[in-house]
Amino acid sequence: MQENLNCCCHDSQAHFLTQAMQHLDLNAAQRKLLLQSFREITVQIPLEVRQGGKKTLHTFTGYRVQHNHARGPFKGGLRFHPEVKLEEIRALAQLMTWKTALVDIPFGGAKGGITIDPAKLTENELETLTRRFTQKLAPVLGEHEDIPAPDVNTNPQIMAWIFDEYSKSHGHTPAVVTGKPVELGGSEGRLEATGFGVAFITGRMCSDLSIPLKQARIAIQGFGNVGSYAALRLSEMGAHIVAISDVFGGVYCKDGVDIWAAMRHVQENGRLQGLKGTKEISNEALLALPCDVLIPAAMEGVINCNNADAIQARLVIEAANMPITHMADDKLRTHGTVIVPDILANAGGVTVSYFEWVQNIQRFPWDKSKVFKRMETYLSRAYEDVRELSRRKRMDLRTSAYELAVQRTLQAVTLRGF
Ligand code: GLU
Repeated sequence: MQENLNCCCHDSQAHFLTQAMQHLDLNAAQRKLLLQSFREITVQIPLEVRQGGKKTLHTFTGYRVQHNHARGPFKGGLRFHPEVKLEEIRALAQLMTWKTALVDIPFGGAKGGITIDPAKLTENELETLTRRFTQKLAPVLGEHEDIPAPDVNTNPQIMAWIFDEYSKSHGHTPAVVTGKPVELGGSEGRLEATGFGVAFITGRMCSDLSIPLKQARIAIQGFGNVGSYAALRLSEMGAHIVAISDVFGGVYCKDGVDIWAAMRHVQENGRLQGLKGTKEISNEALLALPCDVLIPAAMEGVINCNNADAIQARLVIEAANMPITHMADDKLRTHGTVIVPDILANAGGVTVSYFEWVQNIQRFPWDKSKVFKRMETYLSRAYEDVRELSRRKRMDLRTSAYELAVQRTLQAVTLRGF
């Protein structure tokens, strides 16, 4: 069957949710309530962009989708990417509801973004764009309402502008956004948290599957904030990171890529290509490498109907959000591949966002070791909950994770009575 890759992301999300809901005794009204967004906002962001020496007016489109806030304020990242669409943001907002419920932090789910390639803007243009977007969203944001964070192509500097812009009209409010620079109230460890969390979950899963981490061969697609820190931590844990890649392509070394050297190389050259001691490999070939663990840490839908049969890894860890379409998920599981779903694998990021929010509200920062220790406690508990349910009901890890998350959300909705 052919898969429409343009809509794979939201289709797959709905499919996974429906699958999990089949195990729960939900009526039609409850299903509808859990599937629909609480609020969806589309805004216009005009910006004069300098092109070829002259300024041209562009009107960009921004979104914020707030999915559910029964368990706490809406929470989720903002992405700046040319492919951003409402349907995708809607699915990702819903994913955040399940992720925060699964790790049991007191938040709901949201997501937002702007359809733009930020690499084409100057620093000043990016700042103006971010501030205008913040002004438009300000009525629905707030430390007890909706708290954005970094996502694809957004970073601590962008979060600092959001904090500053929001605080102009609401007073000093660092807790309105997480993932800020540490100097402005950002949490120690937030930058590394998602990648380190991925490494932590990979370690737990490898030990359960009797894959010795010190001999494990791991391929990681994506070398941004998540992929690079996951690679670094896993190589510190003794694994061989045989291949890594970015949007321009990948590099391979059968004895393991030196991740510190790779990070330095990217800082100096803007890409992985040309890294000493490695061979070039395409992104597609990286996914199909014979290895123990495959970690897609880039965009959604990279493992789909067209390449699922080529995947050789025994274990796939979803470091990106929704990297596997539901059809590919079916195929992989039929072949016996174990998949750790995104809402568990990459939940370290939002968990440390929660810690940042707590530290901001209390005006009391923690040191890095406390942050990581507590992150591991939260991830461990979620991991064990999922594993227990999956063993008890003989279900795959994704369905188990969704079932737990949906159950917790529904319980909060029911207790609150809306
Ligand atoms: N964008 C990240 C995610 O998808 C982090 C969200 C947050 O920290 O609020 O989980």
